[in-house]
Amino acid sequence: MTNFIFVTGGVVSSLGKGIAVASIGKMIKSRGLKVSVIKLDPYLNVDPGTMSPYQHGEVFVTVDGSETDLDLGHYERFIDIELTSMSNVTSGQIYSEVISNERDGKYLGGTIQIVPHVTDAIRSHIIGLADKSEADVVIVEVGGTVGDIEGQPFIETIRQMRRFVGQDKTFYIHLTLLPHLASTDELKTKPTQHSVQALRGMGIQPDAILCRADSYVEENVRDKIALYCDVLPEAIISLPTLDNVYKVPIHLEHEGLGNLIAEKFSFTSKRADLEKWEEITTCDTSNWPEITVGIVGKYVELHDSYISVTEALKHAGMFQKVRVNLKWISSELIEQNGIRDLFNDTNGLVVPGGFDSRGIEGMIETAKYARENEIPYFGLCLGMQIMVIEYTRNKLGLRNANSLEMSESTEDPVISLMDGQEALHSTGGTMRLGSYACKLKLGTLTRKAYGVDIVNERHRHRYEFNNAYREKLEKSGLIASGTSPDDSLVEVMEVHGHPFMLGSQFHPEFGSRPERPHPLFREFIRVAKNTPTEGDQQYLFDQ
Ligand code: GLN
Repeated sequence: MTNFIFVTGGVVSSLGKGIAVASIGKMIKSRGLKVSVIKLDPYLNVDPGTMSPYQHGEVFVTVDGSETDLDLGHYERFIDIELTSMSNVTSGQIYSEVISNERDGKYLGGTIQIVPHVTDAIRSHIIGLADKSEADVVIVEVGGTVGDIEGQPFIETIRQMRRFVGQDKTFYIHLTLLPHLASTDELKTKPTQHSVQALRGMGIQPDAILCRADSYVEENVRDKIALYCDVLPEAIISLPTLDNVYKVPIHLEHEGLGNLIAEKFSFTSKRADLEKWEEITTCDTSNWPEITVGIVGKYVELHDSYISVTEALKHAGMFQKVRVNLKWISSELIEQNGIRDLFNDTNGLVVPGGFDSRGIEGMIETAKYARENEIPYFGLCLGMQIMVIEYTRNKLGLRNANSLEMSESTEDPVISLMDGQEALHSTGGTMRLGSYACKLKLGTLTRKAYGVDIVNERHRHRYEFNNAYREKLEKSGLIASGTSPDDSLVEVMEVHGHPFMLGSQFHPEFGSRPERPHPLFREFIRVAKNTPTEGDQQYLFDQ
């Protein structure tokens, strides 16, 4: 029988509920138990695949090809699990399902209502995941903040769950913010009291409250919340802002949350084994060398748009024992002002994924600079396509080479549409999505980094390398180091003789974990660590 933890948020959004949920998952898994997670998103979009990164941040892709909320990335990284489309449910999905059932006559003429029809549909998704995953604990994160109109069916559903699965199988956690008033130097509890009141008004009494604040929440403040909110004092948990999100599971474990949950669900093994995690995430990095990696993209003012990329770089940095500073560089700015001295202090450059033609020429400039100056370059999906366009233009001399996505009339569509994609429009879920096998070529940097012949990696793209150019490019030094097993699709390319100029059509960042950094990121950071910057010529020899 599965146990359920429900996590709601209060007071403000962006408190790091996803990180808290991922951390709780980690603490439970570290007790030898099986965990799965589901994120309930109240917005009406069917999935975030068609949403602007400005509004929604990164689209995380699951192995089975679902375009999901970026919180699933946190869950996968912390808990080290692979989730599927079952782990992200939106109001859009639920309403379309209910309405389509109604059109099909499945409700036998009944009046269709939020309660019970919509709440039943939500519940069956939660139970469906519990059954399929056979998890000991399913953690359910309700997106948004208590009081949001569109979130109410979800809150109502998790309230009903207590009746359906039993009191002893459910645990409710509410995450709130304690604002700090500088004038009196105190953390205020009133917004939390109101938020819990709102939650109780909807029939949910929290079993624990996680108090987010910039500093540690002292006992007297916690006791006050315990009294007003009718929660045990030991279940009011301080969650201050930490310098590294990967420390959150260790912190919550120390604060006793893991044991509280273990006792509630009567787990026999109560000891959490977080030793390895603690070693990786809390080690002293002050003596490590520092490097700077430039991320050249379109949404650089919105770091959440590339969250899996930045996390994968961090993981690789932890592995190579180097502090990785990120420098965000707008490719449009490069188009306007040129590169000048922008890359003087960068030891490596990443061009991440993206869509449409904005800022493309700035990325191509970046690839040229990296190739000519032997700066490590890592292209992710669009970044791989950019690398190919640059190489074709400047090494093969086909000056107008482009991707069909950027120019429909290009004479040399070195990146073209995949078979079957021609007639499709961007209506969501129509790209090449999810995990596919990739065969690696012996003797290449790619094969060496992975150390195996076949890998599986996640995709999210519509365009693809055009094989008509393969022979010519390979002859001139741009090698297809990874292909689909039948050799029909090029998945990874690398520049022969360059210390690290590599691009993958897939997104390796989705598979990186703190405890298992992705091999390509690991290798990229290793080479970047040994690449001096302009002002730091002797860097290499210090290591
Ligand atoms: N826009 C490119 C394509 O559709 C790359 C996509 C991406 O970077 N995720 O092929």
